[in-house]
Amino acid sequence: MDLKYKWATEDIYESLNAWESDFKNVAKPDFSEFRGKLNTAQGFLACMKKEEEFGKILEKLSVYAFMKHDENTKDSVYDALLNRVNSVAVKFSAETSFIIPELIALDKSVIQSYIDNPALSDYDYSLRCVLKNKEHVLSEAEEKLLSMSAEALSSFKDVFTKIDNADLPISQFTHNGKKYPLSHGLYGVYMQDSDRTLRKKAFKVYYRAYISLINSISATYYGSVKSDVFFAKAKKYPSALAAAIAGEDVDVKVYKNLISSVHTALPILHEYMSEKKKALNLDKMYMYDAYVPTVENADIKLDYDDAYKLVIKGLSVLGKEYTELLIKAHDNRWLDVYESDGKRSGAYSIAVYGVHPYVLLNYQKTTHDVFTIAHEMGHSIHSYFSNRAQNYAKADYKIFVAEVASTVNEVLLCRYLIENEKDVKLKKYLLSYLMEMIRTTLFRQTQFAEFEEKVHALVEKGVPLNKDNMSKIYLALNKKYYGKAIVSGGEIKYEWARIPHFYRAFYVYKYATGIISALAIADRILTEGAPAVNDYFKFLSSGGSDSPVELLKIAGVDLTTEKPFTGAFKVFKDALEKFKSL
Ligand SMILES: [Zn+2]
Repeated sequence: MDLKYKWATEDIYESLNAWESDFKNVAKPDFSEFRGKLNTAQGFLACMKKEEEFGKILEKLSVYAFMKHDENTKDSVYDALLNRVNSVAVKFSAETSFIIPELIALDKSVIQSYIDNPALSDYDYSLRCVLKNKEHVLSEAEEKLLSMSAEALSSFKDVFTKIDNADLPISQFTHNGKKYPLSHGLYGVYMQDSDRTLRKKAFKVYYRAYISLINSISATYYGSVKSDVFFAKAKKYPSALAAAIAGEDVDVKVYKNLISSVHTALPILHEYMSEKKKALNLDKMYMYDAYVPTVENADIKLDYDDAYKLVIKGLSVLGKEYTELLIKAHDNRWLDVYESDGKRSGAYSIAVYGVHPYVLLNYQKTTHDVFTIAHEMGHSIHSYFSNRAQNYAKADYKIFVAEVASTVNEVLLCRYLIENEKDVKLKKYLLSYLMEMIRTTLFRQTQFAEFEEKVHALVEKGVPLNKDNMSKIYLALNKKYYGKAIVSGGEIKYEWARIPHFYRAFYVYKYATGIISALAIADRILTEGAPAVNDYFKFLSSGGSDSPVELLKIAGVDLTTEKPFTGAFKVFKDALEKFKSL
């Protein structure tokens, strides 16, 4: 294969020897000299500097091993490298685990003096988080008991995983005299099949499996919710919701605002569903019809270099600097493009502080693959800007904002293609691509988020959860979100029983706030031009220097207000209008 389509790992390490000699520098992390010394600014700074120095090298070592491993997962050499660096990472985190508790134990006034100290400005945001956390720290004995109970109480998730991956009675079903295998992955494929009877059968058989274990699953999920509520109460949070999202430094009002703003836009979703019903020529529409593509797949079928050029054109509204960076990434081999024997499947972006970001692709000429280039380069350039502008301590951005830049790129590219495409079929395909993305990422994840909020609130009031009250709540939500176009009866009331994400409470709302932010930013860029791009670049350069909600405000997105939602829903409505007119 042509070397120019393989990523330049030599930018991280020239050779295995170079990796080995760096490895020697961190093989035995020892932070004992700093224990008990964080109570002076000098002691704290010295410890932070050493932690950073170690962290940077460890990042280089592990990203290199990870990437080399993914180039050919069959090659055991890099498996061994990965294991070695992982075991050092475990030692490193054990060695530095005293830092946060020791800081939290400091007097408030001492922490505040560190925050105000210009020499410690790299750490002001983390110290502010420490200060916030301080209110929720219990006595040493109580903390010890809590952490002892944590392992036992996390078992609910393991129980669900076992049910879902081992005990769930799904294997196959028969359709037109032929046997079809069924698994979690294949279920998603069947839901997009144009054969309606096949979809219906797959749906019924899949749900029947969950229903056959519904009492066990209900008890398991109830246990998981109870432990969320227990920890929140023990740690003196007003609710399980507040406790969960405090981890990302997000306020409850962002969560509430998401749900109430999405409610105002439900009529557009209802209209979209009835339009989809019409386009699919259905007399009645069921949940197993919701995922079937409205327009048959229309592939752009471009060679990689042409697809990359198209991405550059689609994102040209971001200006010269962005375009030049995309070209630089292409020409300097930041991307590993094609499938090869043993190469990891899928796509991702990964960055090394002090080097540059990388992207793994498995490019196949589908329209989706073109969007994947835009998506992953969005992550990469976000990392590039943040790593360039921020010191190591503040460079990493939080999960809450992680999908914003990638989605901005997808939306910009999609809107560019829709604007410029002459072929009606492809144009309709692109419009439905955008609308389905909004339906599944924005509306569906908010529906999940609302369900989580409701069931946790019940348990906080002392109401036990069971299959009946959870299914009743879920069915009411499903009717509310999808409206009259869909027949919301039967099995769908048990959908909550099959969502693994629910065992990581209050996580999925981030998908919804991420796409809302991206739609609002893309819309602002397309309507305001340069000033909006400027603000967006400032956001991309802000890394993890403040709370993610504050950082988004730099790009003009205030998630505590309705404004970004209005912009995002306008995009959905416009797309729907265009689709109807075609
Ligand atoms: Zn992504």
